[in-house]
Amino acid sequence: MKYIGAHVSTSGGVENAPVNAHAIGARAFALFTRNQRQWVSKPLTQKSISAFRENCEKFDYQPFQILPHDSYLINLGNPGREALEKSRAAFLDEMQRCELLGLDRLNFHPGSHLNLIDEELCLRTIAESVNIVLDKTSGVMAVIENTAGQGTNLGHTFEQIRFIIDHVEDKERVGVCIDTAHAYSAGYDIRTAEGFEKTFAELDAIVGLSYLKGLHINDSKKAFASRVDRHDQIGQGTLGEEVFVRLVNDPRFDNMPIILETPDENRWAEEIAFLYGAIRAQN
Ligand SMILES: [Zn+2]
Ligand SMILES: [Zn+2]
Repeated sequence: MKYIGAHVSTSGGVENAPVNAHAIGARAFALFTRNQRQWVSKPLTQKSISAFRENCEKFDYQPFQILPHDSYLINLGNPGREALEKSRAAFLDEMQRCELLGLDRLNFHPGSHLNLIDEELCLRTIAESVNIVLDKTSGVMAVIENTAGQGTNLGHTFEQIRFIIDHVEDKERVGVCIDTAHAYSAGYDIRTAEGFEKTFAELDAIVGLSYLKGLHINDSKKAFASRVDRHDQIGQGTLGEEVFVRLVNDPRFDNMPIILETPDENRWAEEIAFLYGAIRAQN
């Protein structure tokens, strides 16, 4: 079964996310559990938490269909001690928000070395950050998102993701989310049938598909291997629609949130309908 949706707005409160998802025909959704561009946010109110849970039940969204995304400010591999502590505290707060909402996974961008430390030390720092936060929480998995490798962002190769997982103590509570636009920009040529097979075989061999806990499906405005992160609507970018049709017909992506983060939210309902319509009968 495919669970396709989008990263919906929480304007007015997190409890509106399942309502917004339902309105566009989504069977999965992503959300920010706090303002993604501020360090400090007010705690979730009991009223908001209860309403979120009620709305999820009402519209039939279970935790495995929901993929919260962490704040863009967080850098769990930050070379500066103070900045790192700030990121760890914010990440812990986000994990705790997921706990309160009854969610089971939190998607995060691994981190950036800022040209101040080498890649390996940055990856070790990220894993240590995950260990610290997992120790203080329960029931929520930290899901590493692959990146386009823009700037000094790490996580653009499957080897880097593997390295982080290798250094996370609780392997039951670490996962991976693959963003199609990021993979393509990072140099994984998923556009062709052959490249798609090769990429996911590599992901399985290096990381292991059992770690896959979600997908971000975006077309890309940028060229293959550009290392630039710019999403485009499905079928309108450099990837084209074929890869997405292939993806929704692939049983390896069953039973996990498949999330659109395409720029024009007015087209999400149409994109979701297109993707569900592209699923062939035998699936
Ligand atoms: Zn992301
Ligand atoms: Zn992106």
